[in-house]
Amino acid sequence: MNHFDFCILGSGIAGLSSALFLEKYGKTCLISNNKLFSGSTPLAQGGIACIENPLDSFESHMQDTLKAGEYKNNTEAVRILVNNAPLAIEHLKKWGVQFKKSKHLEGGHSFPRIFHNNDKSGKEISNKLIKKVLDSKNIFIKEFNDVYYLNSENNYVSSYDLKNNIHNNIFYKTLIIATGGYSSLYNFSTSPQENLGTGISLAIKNDITTKDLNKIQFHPTVLNIKRSPKLLLTEALRGEGSVIIDQNNNEIVDPLNTRQKVSLAIFKSQKKGHEVFLDTRMIKNFNTKFPFLFKALTSEFNLNPQKDLLPISWGAHYCMGGIQTNLFGQTNKNNIYAIGECANTGVHGNNRLASNSLLEGVVFAKKCSDHITNNNFYNFNKNSYIKRNNLIYEKEITILNEIKNILSEYFSISRNKESIKKGVELLNKVEIKNIKDDNILCLAKQIFK
Ligand SMILES: Cc1cc2nc3c(=O)[nH]c(=O)nc-3n(C[C@H](O)[C@H](O)[C@H](O)COP(=O)(O)OP(=O)(O)OC[C@H]3O[C@@H](n4cnc5c(N)ncnc54)[C@H](O)[C@@H]3O)c2cc1C
Repeated sequence: MNHFDFCILGSGIAGLSSALFLEKYGKTCLISNNKLFSGSTPLAQGGIACIENPLDSFESHMQDTLKAGEYKNNTEAVRILVNNAPLAIEHLKKWGVQFKKSKHLEGGHSFPRIFHNNDKSGKEISNKLIKKVLDSKNIFIKEFNDVYYLNSENNYVSSYDLKNNIHNNIFYKTLIIATGGYSSLYNFSTSPQENLGTGISLAIKNDITTKDLNKIQFHPTVLNIKRSPKLLLTEALRGEGSVIIDQNNNEIVDPLNTRQKVSLAIFKSQKKGHEVFLDTRMIKNFNTKFPFLFKALTSEFNLNPQKDLLPISWGAHYCMGGIQTNLFGQTNKNNIYAIGECANTGVHGNNRLASNSLLEGVVFAKKCSDHITNNNFYNFNKNSYIKRNNLIYEKEITILNEIKNILSEYFSISRNKESIKKGVELLNKVEIKNIKDDNILCLAKQIFK
């Protein structure tokens, strides 16, 4: 029963899109450790980058992406990303997603080129794609199934069904890993707790190559008030004229600079003991332009963005690094693909340009699905057998807080050789109790490498 042509781990934009692209070609198992509406995708506020202005061009989108990535990007991957953006938007629209076109500039972009749904872009995308997936007879859904083990020799993954308290072994011909990033391994993070980089841990343990795991993007405008995940104050607010000031009312940085530069300026200001704020008071019609944020700020935090300054900090936000793939999302194991934030296609280089990651999710879901269906040579392993894990499964990760503290302190935005050395020493002393501990520790060690 648990044999599928395609097994997809994760139901963010990458997992959902690939399930829909592959729908006609075989039986798919779509697994999420939470409900389907999970991961970072529903949290995305800004939108998805695609040229639309007659004065804009693919070349300009490409140059902005390369500049943000400090020219460490894979140029061919960037070309694929930007050239396929209009097609990706068409696919999303076909699946029911509604977009508005932007009038404002987003940080790092030379033209207004963001397709959005006010500040609910991610919710809109997740809702519409989930509806399509639920309508499909070929897609079998396993929600609340926590995947913790991959056996790439025998083509199966093991998951723990959190509702029914049973273990599942799911056999596949082709596996697509789309489990999102790992910035939740930081104390201060905008990402949801279900994303702990497990897909990447499983890849590492199966000798699947990873790349640039040390490249983590920090977001400059995270609301500095206790909550997990932290509330992100979208880039678009700065596009609308917001400024970043310290407690003495001094502007500390050009708000439209890249995320890394703005984050670093905030970090330095905080190190001097200053409090930092985003001043959004000049934005007219905040409540209609940013309805989700307005509601969250006023009802959850008792802040009125048209009157109050918003306390902000930098936080871990996005992972450029991940499972290394070719231009079709394929890893060094033929029948294992990785797409979305858990993958490293090379599109982002040292730093991701805002609104390029939802785009990456769809574009490489299509590339990978086409590649899988054109190379229909994968099959079930004839000698499928279940190898027992040495470590037991437990729902809790006993070392999570320890790992978060080590990363936040020694692998922060201002890390250096000394802090990295100290972090590695501490990681080597961490004691694991179960397989989830082991997954996290193996990823953390790789980040510090
Ligand atoms: C607050 C916020 C705002 C953002 N705004 C934007 C924006 O405006 N534009 C933009 O382009 N990008 C934005 N991003 C980044 C973007 O949202 C993500 O990069 C993108 O959604 C990642 O999609 P994904 O499909 O790769 O992973 P995700 O959407 O993160 O989905 C990962 C999936 O994997 C599942 N999963 C994880 N581990 C396991 C496991 N062990 N077993 C089973 N399932 C598992 C999760 O439950 C989830 O379903 C934002 C990110 C955040 C956090």
